[in-house]
Amino acid sequence: MISYANALLYAIPAFMVLVLLEVAYGHFVKNQKYRFFDTLSSLSSGVTNVLKDSLGLAIVLISYPYLSSKLAITEMSDSAVTWVVAFIAIDFAGYWNHRLSHHINIFWNQHVIHHSSEDFNLACALRQSISNVVGYTAVLLLPAALLGVPYSVIAVLGPLHLFGQFWYHTQHIGKLGWLEYILVTPSQHRVHHAINPEYIDKNLGQIFSVWDRLFGTFQEELDEVPPRYGVLKPARTYNPLWINFQHFYNLSVDAWHAERFVDKLRIWFMPTGWRPADVAARYERPIIEDVYTYERYDPKSGLLRKVVVFIQFLLAISLLFYFFAIFSDLENTERMLVGGLIFLMVMGYTSLMDGSKWALAFEALRVVYLVLIYLAYPSVFMALGLPYALLIGLSAVSVMATKWALTDE
Ligand SMILES: [Zn+2]
Ligand SMILES: [Zn+2]
Repeated sequence: MISYANALLYAIPAFMVLVLLEVAYGHFVKNQKYRFFDTLSSLSSGVTNVLKDSLGLAIVLISYPYLSSKLAITEMSDSAVTWVVAFIAIDFAGYWNHRLSHHINIFWNQHVIHHSSEDFNLACALRQSISNVVGYTAVLLLPAALLGVPYSVIAVLGPLHLFGQFWYHTQHIGKLGWLEYILVTPSQHRVHHAINPEYIDKNLGQIFSVWDRLFGTFQEELDEVPPRYGVLKPARTYNPLWINFQHFYNLSVDAWHAERFVDKLRIWFMPTGWRPADVAARYERPIIEDVYTYERYDPKSGLLRKVVVFIQFLLAISLLFYFFAIFSDLENTERMLVGGLIFLMVMGYTSLMDGSKWALAFEALRVVYLVLIYLAYPSVFMALGLPYALLIGLSAVSVMATKWALTDE
C-alpha cells in the first residue's frame, strides 16, 4: 500500500495536468467538453477511490499468489516473453471482468460510477469505484496462473494497465486508422460510454480491441448516431458515495419488496436492470426512453456556491496529496482517521454541488469527528503535523460557508 501511495504522488499531478490541458484545448478550439460540477464530481470519485485502495478497504476472496501457487503447471522466468504474456492475460481478464460488470446486477453496482458522468472527457476516466469491496478478479487471471507468470510481474503491470486506459476518454481525437483494429481508441470508448440503443454495452475491451471483435461485442462509432453519455437510470447526484451504492440500494429495496423468496435471491445475479415482475408493477422506476431529449443533470448554482465548493475541493485534494506524501510515516489507525477526514470533506462539498441539505449534515459530522479524534486519539494531529486548532477552525468556517452557499441558487 505504501508503494501505491508513492505511485499516486506522481500519477495524481500527471492526471490533473492532462485534464487541465484538455480543458484549455476545449476552450481554445471553442468546443468545451467539461462542465464545472461534473468535473469536480469525477475528480472526487477518483479521490474516494484512491483513498479506499490505499487504505486496503477490501476483502480479498482469492488472491493471485494463492492461485498461482496451487495451479501453476509451468514456471516462467522474468523474460520479455513473460511480460508480454502477462499483459495479454491481464487484458483478457479485464475484458471479462468488464463484461461481467455490465451484464450482472450485483457487478454493475461496482462499475456504475465509471459511467455515471453525462459528459465524456479525461476526468471521467478517474471515476473509479469504492463499492468493489470483495476481491475476486484474480480468478479471471487463471491463464496467467496456469502458465506460472510471477506475481511480481502482475503487480507491476496491474496499475500500468489501468493507467493505460486514461488517454482514450476524450472527444477531441477522431478515428485512428489501422490502430482501431488493435487498440481500444477514443472513438471506440465513446461508443462504450454511450447509452444510445445502438451502442449500449458494446466495446468492453480495455487496451486491446481484439477481444470485442472476437467475442461479438464490437461496435463502430457511426456518424449518424452521435453518442449520448451516462447511464439509463441516471444518478442525478454528484456525491460519489450515493452513486457507488445507488444500484445496490435499488436492488435491496426490490429484494425486500419481492413476494417470492426466489426473486429475493436471484435478483442479484440476474441481468443488469432485471426486476421481479410483481415489484416492477407496483413500484415504477423510470429509465431514459429517448436519449436525444433527455436533459442532463445540471442543478442550479450561483457563483458563490461554485467558489465555496472549489475552495473545499482544493483543501481536500491538498490534504489528500499531503497524506500520500507522509503515508509511510503514519500508523494504520492514523491513516484510517485521516482517510475518514478527507472522505467527509468530499461528502460535504459534493452534496453542496447537489444543493442538498446532506451537505450541512456531513459538514457537522466532520466537526464532531474532529472533536472525537481529539478526545480519543489526539496524537494523530501530531503525526499529521497539522494543529488541531487549524483543522477545527477551518471546519467551522466551512460549515458556515456551506450554510450560506446552500441558499445561492
Ligand atoms: Zn464499462
Ligand atoms: Zn471508460
